[in-house]
Amino acid sequence: MSSQEREQSASERREALKEVFQQARACTRCAELAATRKTVVFGAGNADADLMFIGEAPGASEDEQGVPFVGRAGKLLETLLGEIGQQRTDVFIANVLKCRPPGNRDPLPIEIDNCRDYLLRQVELIQPTVICTLGNFSTKLLRGDPRGITRLHGQPEVLVLGRRAVRLYPIYHPAAALYTPRMLETLREDFTRLPELLALGAPEQPPPASSPEGEGEELPELVTDDLADASTASAQPPAPAEQKDSSVDQLGLF
Ligand code: URA
Repeated sequence: MSSQEREQSASERREALKEVFQQARACTRCAELAATRKTVVFGAGNADADLMFIGEAPGASEDEQGVPFVGRAGKLLETLLGEIGQQRTDVFIANVLKCRPPGNRDPLPIEIDNCRDYLLRQVELIQPTVICTLGNFSTKLLRGDPRGITRLHGQPEVLVLGRRAVRLYPIYHPAAALYTPRMLETLREDFTRLPELLALGAPEQPPPASSPEGEGEELPELVTDDLADASTASAQPPAPAEQKDSSVDQLGLF
């Protein structure tokens, strides 16, 4: 992110987010996911949110509707949000993978890697103060560490993603909590700490990288050119023509 981009207004960042979405829509980096998905589930909510949730990957309902967390886990997430006085339209909800793994299998490491730039770009443009990772996949990805959610849940830490410092707050995935009452209790307790974390505001930001003119620096973490290239990658088969196009609906989601 250049220092110019840092100063972008919320509406400019939202427009840029829409462009990233258009790139993701055409993505064929993961041949199997591109061939089997119905929609690319980019994310939904407030594009200028202070609070962002990152789950694992879309399931069948999300793939149908093009919206993350619309199934039972999503309803639980909405309930927990309601208990802290928030609605899903106040926050931004995304996933590690933007496409549904067939049969709801776990995301593969190569798929997580392929999708990583989209997520980091979302974080850069939305500029959340607090990122709640839901479960193991998003927690391990953002922390770059194999430690799991059982050990880490409920423990906030400041993390620099790209050039942005955020308060990372790992919590249990609501889908796991649906079946385990004790986990639900813990998830609910962890949720109650969110308002105080949000009240802390953004952590101190890292200084802008220096360059002769003080701008135009490249991000080592994010290769945005690759995002554009993803739509033209020749080694991958094109997404099926009959794929449902929910882009119009989805653009209204954030
Ligand atoms: N589980 C997730 O991790 N993401 C969704 O969007 C739905 C269920």
